[in-house]
Amino acid sequence: MTQARLTVLSGPSGVGKGSLVRVVREQHPQVWLSVSVTTRAPRPGETDGVEYRFVDQAEFDRMAAAGELLEHDAHMGASYGTPRGPVEEQLAAGNPVLLEIDLMGARQVRAAMPDAQLVFLAPPSFDELARRLVGRGTEDPAKVRVRLDRARIEMAAEDEFDVVVVNDDLEAAAARLVALMELSTD
Ligand code: ADP
Ligand code: 5GP
Repeated sequence: MTQARLTVLSGPSGVGKGSLVRVVREQHPQVWLSVSVTTRAPRPGETDGVEYRFVDQAEFDRMAAAGELLEHDAHMGASYGTPRGPVEEQLAAGNPVLLEIDLMGARQVRAAMPDAQLVFLAPPSFDELARRLVGRGTEDPAKVRVRLDRARIEMAAEDEFDVVVVNDDLEAAAARLVALMELSTD
């Protein structure tokens, strides 16, 4: 049996983290993906408990104060956090665990769980990142600008990660992540 391990996937908004996780989980359904709590509003098509657990600020603050979050961060006017209990349960059960979180969150996980593997998903270029973010069509131009400003800061921190995977070809990036997570291919 492979050693259960916590892998953190970070990278700028629009780089393809969600797409990559989808491909990896299609190929390896045993990968357990943490469902974050957030105070942001659901986007069209998002379902409570699937992409996120959508909570109000009071409930988020209660969870943070009670130590129920492994890490948390606020940006774009919303709070995001990883519920601690389910992560610990899945690791104890021997399941590979994947967190898709931002840079601040990744730093907090590194401090709390030094054995975690931190993977940074990078775009082939900044221009390509901008194209993907606009192409996704989920944010208005002002929000795209905020995310691109933030992306520059996040990309400057990629050296803090154990590994950088460039999301040029999605299938190739998925194969890299599968290898890094040491998932068996049968
Ligand atoms: P994130 O979860 O990092 O914000 P998404 O997975 O939503 O990013 O991807 C942003 C956009 O980029 C989507 O429209 C997606 O289809 C596209 N995309 C993802 N990976 C690739 C890739 N390797 N090549 C081209 N487009 C991609
Ligand atoms: P979005 O609003 O586009 O779903 O996510 C915005 C950002 O929040 C992304 O960079 C995503 O990785 C990050 N994020 C999602 N869940 C969490 C979480 O639980 N903790 C932290 N720190 N960041 C998160």
